[in-house]
Amino acid sequence: MIYYDKVTKIYPDKSVALEDVTFGVEHDEFLTIVGHSGAGKSTLMKLLIAEDRPTRGSVFFESANIHKLDKKNMGKIRRRIGTIFQDYRLIPNKTVYENIAFAMEAAGRSDGEISADVPHVIELVNLGHKIWNFPGELSGGERQRVAIARAIVNQPDIVIADEPTGNLDPENTYEIVRILKKINELGTTVLLTTHNKGVVDALGGRVITMERGKVVKDSKDGKYVL
Ligand code: ADP
Repeated sequence: MIYYDKVTKIYPDKSVALEDVTFGVEHDEFLTIVGHSGAGKSTLMKLLIAEDRPTRGSVFFESANIHKLDKKNMGKIRRRIGTIFQDYRLIPNKTVYENIAFAMEAAGRSDGEISADVPHVIELVNLGHKIWNFPGELSGGERQRVAIARAIVNQPDIVIADEPTGNLDPENTYEIVRILKKINELGTTVLLTTHNKGVVDALGGRVITMERGKVVKDSKDGKYVL
């Protein structure tokens, strides 16, 4: 479904973020990418959503070379990818409901779909009791659950979560991991980056280990070995 083909990324200041990285991600897979800070994990994610371009090599979404698409076709692919970041990126003056509804409006969904689907995803992340609260009134774990609901409400094929538990305590971390696992079981591909050993151990499954821009390990029932 996703294929990184000999991808190298060198930033303008000559930082080598990725060096000759090749791997694929299958439909319905839950792939965890681990590595110390600076290993290149976020850069991998940025290239997938075309926030930046590779210096060499290609990134494919199904048969499409992401960095060769025009704006319209990239927009189509972008809508099939849900994104979750460490810093939540919620809109502060919108309620939980409105934050999620806004993502549906942006995708051109109808009022009927919005009023049917928003409560449904809010229940999925166990936030029914906070539906009319603003982000500033929520804990970090709750904010991240809103971000997850927003990422999945348009039924993407893949969810990418870049250090989603980076600001959370162990209990909230576990809850986020549990929800991401559930999303994967419901048929969505998940690509997660983390440097948290506990997260990797709780997940099992395939783990790619990155070190200084290179894939140094790709294992089916991964353990954190750094
Ligand atoms: P990780 O997500 O694993 O912490 P990153 O992908 O953020 O790693 O960073 C990989 C390397 O690229 C680091 O050395 C980092 O300093 C560098 N880097 C990341 N973003 C930029 C940027 N916009 N400009 C210059 N260097 C960058």
